[in-house]
Amino acid sequence: MSRESLLVISAHVGDFVWRAGGAIALYTSRGHAVTVVCLAYGERGESASYWRKGLNLEQVKEKRHQEAEAAVKVLGAELITFDAGDYPLIETPELLDRLVKVYRVVRPTVVLTHTERDLWNADHETAHSIATKTRIFAQAPGYDPGTEVIGAPPVFMFEPHQTEYSSFMPNVLLDITEVWDRKLEAMHCMEGQQHLWDYYTDVAIRRGAQAQRNSGPNLGLVADTKGEAYQRVYPQVTTALS
Ligand SMILES: [Zn+2]
Repeated sequence: MSRESLLVISAHVGDFVWRAGGAIALYTSRGHAVTVVCLAYGERGESASYWRKGLNLEQVKEKRHQEAEAAVKVLGAELITFDAGDYPLIETPELLDRLVKVYRVVRPTVVLTHTERDLWNADHETAHSIATKTRIFAQAPGYDPGTEVIGAPPVFMFEPHQTEYSSFMPNVLLDITEVWDRKLEAMHCMEGQQHLWDYYTDVAIRRGAQAQRNSGPNLGLVADTKGEAYQRVYPQVTTALS
């Protein structure tokens, strides 16, 4: 089995946990490399409980950084934080260039990121834009010609918070049952967003039930399957229809 390299591009600290924690744990448990890039901490937009406690900006960022480090430790991944600022996350040439460099070092075989549309969070849309543009830039021999270009890793969008309103139509359901305990533990590292612990447990149960319902007999998914939903950005290239 060749070693895969999974690159997860997350706008804020919590996103990679709620939306892709199962995929991350699944890949690391199989011996693959997983790198998580957090473009921002979500310090202004996704840390309300810390602001209500009276923490200042630097304290909130420190809290969120600690949460991210704890979560990637549980999931077995590497963490890169850009601290680019949120609300708004701004797509700058410098930010794009930093991510191209990550692509060329990590050399992903699979990329996970946000949906193109997210009516409730423009930072997520910006993250999608940054993630897909830099993947293309990293393929271009003329961009930073001293470094080696990458191939064409498939990109999967992970599930947004309000699915139906964000034009998300999942066409991949990932069985994460065997690593569910680790995803739950990682979710519990997000102390600033405890209101989402049960919410994303419910999502995993619902997607798991759909996975079980849609799986063939060979997979043998059980009734308490946990799942994560994804949607491909680019066409699947295959030599057989399966
Ligand atoms: Zn977010």
